[in-house]
Amino acid sequence: MSIAAKSMPSGDELEETVATLLEQLGENPGREGLLETPNRVAASLRYLTEGYAADPASIVGDALFALDGFDDMVIVKDIAFYSMCEHHLLPFFGRAHIGYVPDGKVVGLSKLPRLVDTYSRRLQLQERMTREIAEAINSVVAPRGVAVVVEGRHLCIEMRGVEKESSQTVTSCMLGVFRSDERTRAEFLSHIQQSH
Ligand code: ZN
Repeated sequence: MSIAAKSMPSGDELEETVATLLEQLGENPGREGLLETPNRVAASLRYLTEGYAADPASIVGDALFALDGFDDMVIVKDIAFYSMCEHHLLPFFGRAHIGYVPDGKVVGLSKLPRLVDTYSRRLQLQERMTREIAEAINSVVAPRGVAVVVEGRHLCIEMRGVEKESSQTVTSCMLGVFRSDERTRAEFLSHIQQSH
């Protein structure tokens, strides 16, 4: 394929927008190293924002299991996530920790990381993502309580030199018994702190 043919407009508006962005940055989108960049950036942006299309209830699907009399806390910690801040379109990433106290139903454990993916693959704020994950579990699993703690590093802070050292931003959302019962909350926090 000739260079001229490859740099022809693709008809994909997102790709064309990326080519315009390159021009606005003073680059030449026709130079060899950038020829495929609009295509790659468009594909990666679509992947990184595909969480908009997902629905929490259909992610959990039929992976809800009756477990009468079981009301012990379930914790899934150190769930890796990658997201992009909505203010700068730069990555933030880290770990999410989820706990819930069932009320007769437990959810398949693999579904919790998938819910994290759903809310992280969007333009996000860490605070809102934390709450959305907790509320999704609350509405789909209907437990006695949900706790979500997210620890993230924000490249918009680190790369732009807002802070010199890498720092963690910690956000949490406590619902139900995690909000009302100090001991339940403390039990969850002590479990997730053991990973550090
Ligand atoms: Zn930002």
